Amino acid sequence: MEHIDPAINSRFDTRSSRPCEFCREHDPKFRERRPLDQMVASSRKAIASAHLTEDGYVRHRMLELRQIAARAPLTAA
Ligand SMILES: [Zn+2]
Repeated sequence: MEHIDPAINSRFDTRSSRPCEFCREHDPKFRERRPLDQMVASSRKAIASAHLTEDGYVRHRMLELRQIAARAPLTAA
C-alpha cells in the first residue's frame, strides 16, 4: 500500500510543482521518467530551466533541439 516515494516528499513540496506541459506533449517516453524528472515549478512557465531536476532539464532541452532540427533540415553543405 506504500505508493508514495519518500524522496519526493522530503526533497520537494509537490504542491508547488506540476508536470511539464511541453515535455508531456512532445516526449513519447514522458511517463517512463522518474516522477521528479517530469515536474516543473508551478510558478514557472514550462521551460527547461523550470525543471526541478538536472535530468528533466536535459530531456526538455533535447526535445527543444529536436524540434529546431526538424524545422531546419540540414540543407547547407
Ligand atoms: Zn519540460
